Amino acid sequence: METDIETLYQEALAAVSQADDPEVLKNLSIQYLGRKGAMTRYLRSISSLPTEQRPAAGQRANEVKARIEKAFEAAERRIAAQQETREACIDISLPGRTPAIGGLHPLTQIMRIICDIFTRMGFHVAEGPEVELDHYNFEALNIPKHHPARDMQDTFYVSDDVVLRTHTSPIQVRYMESHRPPLKIVAPGKVYRCDSDITHTPMFHQIEGLVVGSDVAFSDLKGTLSAFVHQMFDSQTALRFRPSFFPFTEPSAEVDIQCVMCRGKGCRVCSQTGWLEVLGAGMVHPAVFENVGYDTGSLSGFAFGMGIERIAMLKFGIDDIRKFFENDVRFLGQFRAGL
Ligand SMILES: [Zn+2]
Repeated sequence: METDIETLYQEALAAVSQADDPEVLKNLSIQYLGRKGAMTRYLRSISSLPTEQRPAAGQRANEVKARIEKAFEAAERRIAAQQETREACIDISLPGRTPAIGGLHPLTQIMRIICDIFTRMGFHVAEGPEVELDHYNFEALNIPKHHPARDMQDTFYVSDDVVLRTHTSPIQVRYMESHRPPLKIVAPGKVYRCDSDITHTPMFHQIEGLVVGSDVAFSDLKGTLSAFVHQMFDSQTALRFRPSFFPFTEPSAEVDIQCVMCRGKGCRVCSQTGWLEVLGAGMVHPAVFENVGYDTGSLSGFAFGMGIERIAMLKFGIDDIRKFFENDVRFLGQFRAGL
């Protein structure tokens, strides 16, 4: 005698009730009801029973077979209904998921805008090394060793004669050494100072400008910077020049623009003064020309420099410089569309 009919019946019911996939159900059907299935084998085995037991056993087997068939039909309906519900859950009218796309870093955007403004005014873009000789970073710019101006910049020294450049000004010197005037360049790039707080990071970006020719005047400097500020911010933005000191320019000036947040009325960003300091500038010091072998008698020039982060913070309304370098894509993603 094969497996007991009642055990077979219970097993089949349990398996069918757990099936949740048409494929599984089909396999179960073969296993229990197929030509070589458990039920068929049982029915065949009845013939080996004693004659008097055969009618009852046959009747019970047919009953069980009919019930199992009914269980299969019910399971089929159940699985079909489940599938229908699952399909109804997929809303094909929903918009597709767009893949995340990158964008330019806000500082790169500002750097490019600044370079574009100056190249439209006839400036060339020049570059130079970030690991720089003391000579180019200081000496040639009229900042000899032990000059107090060196204390203005907290320098990273690689060795006694090699530094991480503290400003983009060494590019001026390198460019003048290899080019004859007249010349107009802007030099963007990374600079390094040992300083870190809400408005300073050890690495930041500057852009430097230099114009040298036979009759370059302070008024040209004012005109150039006004044109720049009016394109960078807007044509209503006022500028003011305050006397200052840099070893490589004489006379020197700090350039303020009218606060772009409050239009000069006074606010938190401008510390209630109505003005924002954005640039340093001046006429090139004759000593700098001498250091590169230019004729100081026939040449004059102006130079200016500004921090890219400062301009970006004003343009985008960012109040902590460190955010630029934390590389949080949630922050950076806000500027993907550009200005
Ligand atoms: Zn203000």
